[in-house]
Amino acid sequence: MERAGAGMAIKRKTITAAMMRQLIINQCVDFHSPVLCGACGFAIDKDDKTIVEHLHPLALGGSDGIDNMRLYHWGCARKKTMGTNATTYGSDIWEIAKGKRLRGETGQNKRKVKIQSRPFQKTSQKRMPGGRVVDR
Ligand SMILES: [Zn+2]
Repeated sequence: MERAGAGMAIKRKTITAAMMRQLIINQCVDFHSPVLCGACGFAIDKDDKTIVEHLHPLALGGSDGIDNMRLYHWGCARKKTMGTNATTYGSDIWEIAKGKRLRGETGQNKRKVKIQSRPFQKTSQKRMPGGRVVDR
């Protein structure tokens, strides 16, 4: 099996009308109640911009099955994925970047050859600025 997240595009399932119906049913308390956002838990109005979001991100090994999908307010989904304006800490992209960092995929440990420092002078004479040669 290939590991997801190593610079590889992750294939997402196309959401069919039947899947969408199932998602909506899953997120209603009962038949007459509104659909509740998977993040904030508030009702989703019919005019709200929504998005189907993976609860556990695909890039972090989440499944592409319907039980890993939730209908979110667009803004809630964006916050989950990208973090807030102040910080990405704890968001999906933060978690994905952390995974890459821990697996060494960001190239932070790429330099394997140690840079040689300049050796000590072994001659008994020294050239001064201006070209004059003196004994050490
Ligand atoms: Zn919401």
